[in-house]
Amino acid sequence: MRRLSLNIQILLGAILGVGLGVYLHGISPEQATFQNSVYAANLVGTLFIDLLKMILVPLVFCSIAVGIANLRQHQQIHRVWVVTLMFFLSSMAIAIALGLAASNYFKPGLGLHLDMFQNSLHAFEAKQLPLSEFFTQLLHGLFLNPFSALAQGNVLAVVVFALILGIALVVGGERYKNILALFEEGLEIIMRMVGWIMHLAPLGVMALLVKLVAVQDAAMLNTLAKFVAVVVGTTLFHGVIVLPLILYLFTRKSPLWFWQGAREALLTAFATSSSNATLPVTLRCTTQHLHVKPEIAGFVIPLGATINMDGTALYEASAALFIANLAGIDLSMTQQMIVFFTAMIAAMGAPGIPSAGMVTMVMVLQSVGLPLEAIAILLPIDRLLDTIRTTVNVQGDMVGSVIVQKFTLQKFTQPLSK
Ligand code: ASP
Repeated sequence: MRRLSLNIQILLGAILGVGLGVYLHGISPEQATFQNSVYAANLVGTLFIDLLKMILVPLVFCSIAVGIANLRQHQQIHRVWVVTLMFFLSSMAIAIALGLAASNYFKPGLGLHLDMFQNSLHAFEAKQLPLSEFFTQLLHGLFLNPFSALAQGNVLAVVVFALILGIALVVGGERYKNILALFEEGLEIIMRMVGWIMHLAPLGVMALLVKLVAVQDAAMLNTLAKFVAVVVGTTLFHGVIVLPLILYLFTRKSPLWFWQGAREALLTAFATSSSNATLPVTLRCTTQHLHVKPEIAGFVIPLGATINMDGTALYEASAALFIANLAGIDLSMTQQMIVFFTAMIAAMGAPGIPSAGMVTMVMVLQSVGLPLEAIAILLPIDRLLDTIRTTVNVQGDMVGSVIVQKFTLQKFTQPLSK
């Protein structure tokens, strides 16, 4: 019998994981079967994420430095930059607009009141995060000693250093050809290791989903069902209709073609809830299945994993309106515009790790004076919603790199790679 393709194996792993999770959810958490299974699932899932994270930092470093260095002419770098940023900003703006429109229309949270959630509110202490301080922190974190950035796994700081290094390699040209060759080989060997880690993906994805579904707090989910439905519905709409439509309009690529090429990364994002952990897989799918040149994917994907978050942006805006409804506050048009902009900044500032959006959401709530403690209500269901928003975050990066390639490719006059 022919071996199933990795793609199909991961899909089966995901389906099996959800199935087993639902089964475990049905039995009592006291039982040994439940405890042992959740323990095993947690162990395997965490190991899979650890492996991806192990490879992440050297991968980001080499891929950005090599990517930039290979976009040889300044003209091209400039164009790639501009198209990438324009795409990131506009796709996030569309996502937020969608989130706001759906929340205004469906008004989730309207029949509920904050005081219904007294128990969970007590358990939470909101940290103040004023916009000015957030900016200071964000900018301050950009330029770090590269060794400490690498050691701390600070992806954004690694991205920035690698960008500058890549530009220096371009400007130096022939003079630094050995260093460039070293990074190029580094990238190649890391991608080989990613290939090995991917063999574990079906198991890892399954284990992560078993745990996620088994321990989900179902009572809270029921109370917040309408909010969950609105967020899931709009996020899916953005991922299934809006992004594929943008892709088709700009590149004439079909959604099916995209789904087939992107599937491994999307399922990994869904199971890990982390754009960062998924990054090695995203890069692999984008270059190998979606045929984006490594120099473009190597730049757009790592940058996108840290700043381009359509799903998170949409979520932050919807959640702000939901909390306003809970608190009985009617947000004016101007206040909603403030939510629009802060949601975008908050999503860009959120690192690509699980539940990061929850932390930066404090800023969005604060910007229009909403009660921060209300976040406590959203925490129990966050891991569940995080799956879908992370998937759409990663999807946005992949769509972006295909579009950037389309817009810049004609400009390449010389062969792209060695
Ligand atoms: N988990 C998301 C990501 O990694 C960030 C978030 O919490 O929204 O993309």
